[in-house]
Amino acid sequence: MADSLQAIRGMNDILPHQSHLWQYVEGGIRAVLDAYGYREIRLPIVEKTELFKRSIGEVTDIVEKEMYSFEDRNGDSLTLRPEGTAGCVRACIQHGLLNNQVQRLWYAGPMFRHERPQKGRYRQFHQFGVEVFGLEGPDIDAELLMLTARLWRRLGLQQVSLQINSLGTVAARASFRDALVEFLRAHRQRLDEDSLRRMETNPLRILDSKNPDIQALLADAPRLADHIDGQSRQHFEQLRAHLDAAGVDYSVNPQLVRGLDYYGRTVLEWVTDQLGAQGTVCAGGRYDALVEYLGGKPTPAVGFALGLERLIALLEQQQSEFAGNAPHLYIVALGERAQRASLTLAEQLREALPRLRILTHCGGGSFKSQFKKADRSGAFYALVLGDDEVANQEAGLKPLREQSEQQNVAFAALPQRLAEIFNY
Ligand code: ATP
Ligand code: MG
Repeated sequence: MADSLQAIRGMNDILPHQSHLWQYVEGGIRAVLDAYGYREIRLPIVEKTELFKRSIGEVTDIVEKEMYSFEDRNGDSLTLRPEGTAGCVRACIQHGLLNNQVQRLWYAGPMFRHERPQKGRYRQFHQFGVEVFGLEGPDIDAELLMLTARLWRRLGLQQVSLQINSLGTVAARASFRDALVEFLRAHRQRLDEDSLRRMETNPLRILDSKNPDIQALLADAPRLADHIDGQSRQHFEQLRAHLDAAGVDYSVNPQLVRGLDYYGRTVLEWVTDQLGAQGTVCAGGRYDALVEYLGGKPTPAVGFALGLERLIALLEQQQSEFAGNAPHLYIVALGERAQRASLTLAEQLREALPRLRILTHCGGGSFKSQFKKADRSGAFYALVLGDDEVANQEAGLKPLREQSEQQNVAFAALPQRLAEIFNY
């Protein structure tokens, strides 16, 4: 194919052998959110550019250099959403969902950022976002973290750990920012180009630097914790007490920040050391100032977004059995009667065991060639039907992934037998 017709760099196809794992992950996340009473909100992929400039902030990486913006035919500047919070807040204000109401919401879908593509970092990627409006206490912050911890358990995800921090109020952060800038000015010669620029525009963002030299310098920098106001400190202590009581492990990372002005108090990240530099699987925090900033009534808010590509990469690394969508059963049939019987038998089995993946062999061919296809499908078992078997109302069940003999099983006993084998 001509290069010019290939997919855009950093925008991936999700192929049939991968989509099964995506469905498993998406289904698991939806089930957990449902169990906590969170409801889905579906939002447009395109919004006015102005919305992102205002909500994410003019001096952030996203707005400065990563947005996919374009002019609509009538001249409006529009942008493919780089994240979901802005659109969610916009929709909630627009439809009056925040008037003296608590909202526990989630959304999912593609996000777009023009970053340098690499492992775990793409230009189109997928997030699940969760936002709660109308609750200011640390209890809801804790609920969100318990929900994520349950999610990892449900998905079988290991080797992620929780880091939390508190940013304090806007005023507390301003006083910290002054102290930080004073320190950075004194060490100007050790700063890289990015940090020099951020020192003028958005100094808190320097704490988030991926440059090890900058991180080393920051070890001696003033600490945000020393500037935090009493109420925020109390909020954070209560959050920690909730997490301790619920048995959710975490560490406090004083370097953890979100560079945006409207963030305050709780910030959180779930990180792994298994994915190289792109180790943050889930990130978020409290943003009590944003709703008012976008024109709504003052409304406390807290949320997080998790990156599906990174989550799935981690699962693939951990559990190779999820790596494909191997069928449980591949039905091999020789002879006209057997072929017809195989289709109806497959239907009966799907009726009895709807979660099993059952492939019927179509297109005829010798036993040998059918078995080859069964093997190549990755199926765990082959079910063998010939005209004799059909006459006896039974089928041969043969394991394909271990050395073991074929056994004959009566049609009527098959659902029970398969349920046992697959722990159904
Ligand atoms: P990073 O520091 O890795 O750039 P971020 O702070 O820009 O992350 P958020 O905006 O908080 O990320 O997005 C939440 C999550 O979405 C991230 O933790 C990550 O899992 C995922 N994510 C963000 N950007 C990308 C991307 N370009 N490709 C894949 N996943 C991403
Ligand atoms: Mg980023």
